[in-house]
Amino acid sequence: MIIRRLAVPAAAILAGGSILLVQPATASPPGVDKKPVAEGYGGAVATVDVDVSRAALGVLRRGGNAIDAAVAGAATLGVTEPYSGGLAGGGFMVYYDAGHRRVHTIDGRETAPRAMTPASLEGIPFDDAVTSGLSAGVPGSVAQWELALSRFGTISLKEALRPAIEVATDGFTVDQTFHNQTAANVARFKDFTSTARLYLPGGAPPAVGSTFRNPELAETYRQLGRRGGDWLYGGRLGAEVVATVKNPPVTPGSTRTVRPGLMELSDLAAYRAVERPPTKVTYKGMDVYGMAPPSSGGSTVGEALNVLEVLPKVGLHEYLEASKLAFADRNKYVGDIPGVPLKELLSDGFAKERACLVGERALAAPVAPGDPDGSYGCQAPPPPAQAERTPPEGPETSNLVVADRWGNVVAYTLTIESTGGNGIVVPGRGFLLNNNLTDFTFGPAPGDPNLPGPGKRPRSSMSPTVVLDDGRPLLAVGSPGGSTIITTVLQILFNRWDLGMSLPEALAAPRATQRNTAQVQAEQAFIDRYGPELTARGHSFALNPEIGAATGVEFLGGGRLQAVAEPVRRGGGSALVVGGHR
Ligand code: GLU
Repeated sequence: MIIRRLAVPAAAILAGGSILLVQPATASPPGVDKKPVAEGYGGAVATVDVDVSRAALGVLRRGGNAIDAAVAGAATLGVTEPYSGGLAGGGFMVYYDAGHRRVHTIDGRETAPRAMTPASLEGIPFDDAVTSGLSAGVPGSVAQWELALSRFGTISLKEALRPAIEVATDGFTVDQTFHNQTAANVARFKDFTSTARLYLPGGAPPAVGSTFRNPELAETYRQLGRRGGDWLYGGRLGAEVVATVKNPPVTPGSTRTVRPGLMELSDLAAYRAVERPPTKVTYKGMDVYGMAPPSSGGSTVGEALNVLEVLPKVGLHEYLEASKLAFADRNKYVGDIPGVPLKELLSDGFAKERACLVGERALAAPVAPGDPDGSYGCQAPPPPAQAERTPPEGPETSNLVVADRWGNVVAYTLTIESTGGNGIVVPGRGFLLNNNLTDFTFGPAPGDPNLPGPGKRPRSSMSPTVVLDDGRPLLAVGSPGGSTIITTVLQILFNRWDLGMSLPEALAAPRATQRNTAQVQAEQAFIDRYGPELTARGHSFALNPEIGAATGVEFLGGGRLQAVAEPVRRGGGSALVVGGHR
């Protein structure tokens, strides 16, 4: 745990659990051009990684559209950012189709095996579940890529995988972030023969500046391109995934208890990526589209924006309060269950009722959830709720945004959950398994909408977001960071439209995250700058060294695009445009 300077009272850092903290990377290796902002025409890409951005941009340059480029980028991310996402993970994609002027979303979230019950995770220490077969959900990414390409793309899966195969074969230059993420995982990677062989060559994390190749992943992608998703969803690759989950390749002599998983080949065969209607709220005249359940991203960002919109004046205090209230409702009502009251959670009436509770001083947190029952009016503040366990969140996951020359836009967040997923590489195949089933509530928790269940998708916080103005794309954004994803996206939108920042400023600005917890977690620069005034209004702070690693794109008008990645967080991202001129 890294504890740095904290100028205002704070009791604990990241109370609620241990997380894998990765030292922020400081510099890219020489020769790697990582620009966080790029402006131009004909298409734009922003990702956390220069190889990923280049792969996606190459697809755009060869005439592919935003969906083609997003899938190619995601597959390449599985090579160069393998601890954040890949073919055995899942994710959510929000897509604006310029031809039909419609927003679509594709849910590629993992599912629980059919043998999973609400009690399956009860009593299991969180850290044990993290590195286990039990936490591996049925992978959604490959089905999502195939669905996205067949519905909206112009190239085959085989073609979309080509740039990733090249990078996996030729290798990429190990940067500080990759090195640090590997180093933070040494203790568990060495406990699995397959993982140690791939990611700890010679027994140690690959050195910064060295070339890292993954020929086994290249071959996996090659075969996947030839055979299609069925190879995973019921075929030989699927059988190997199941065998690994049930019988993880634990290194002889390791003392780690590794719980086997419940996944069967029939679970893989039953998996489907799903097209879902997006969530939509109107904010300051713009239409903000996000992900519906099983993600809580769209409903929570949307509710908080609705609350902010009805408040007479807004600043950072109101941003924190709106987020606090929206999280109380998320926790109570949102999960992969029938009957989530989405329409009411996103209604103006409910927002007004919740906004009545926002005063000069911070509400004591946790606040109780509201009642989205369709009948609204100002209520007396309810007594504070019981503290809920906030699962630890690390800097995992990845978001990429792509816009193409036709005006199509993709915001796509993908993940294998923890940095390094469950830590287990499928032997000989070159990829890690996810541990997204740790996003379920472990229980016992009667009535909790996010308990595990057969075939159920764990509640996510991923919040890929597309904003339209007058029916035309204006902005797309998303971020990693577990449940802080929601507040990062919200804060970026708030910075952009309420505090008048440009998109690069809105991404770079120091962050704070209020998820209905007693303390606000915030980056040091936020505490330094705003801590005293917000403490005076009743907020208290805990340090979170780094929140999110966002990417976004803005349509500046006249066809000009601005792609934006992080300047510093997670080592800085990479923004590229197709052409500098019209
Ligand atoms: N599993 C997380 C979610 O779906 C994303 C991973 C993370 O960023 O922590 O919300």
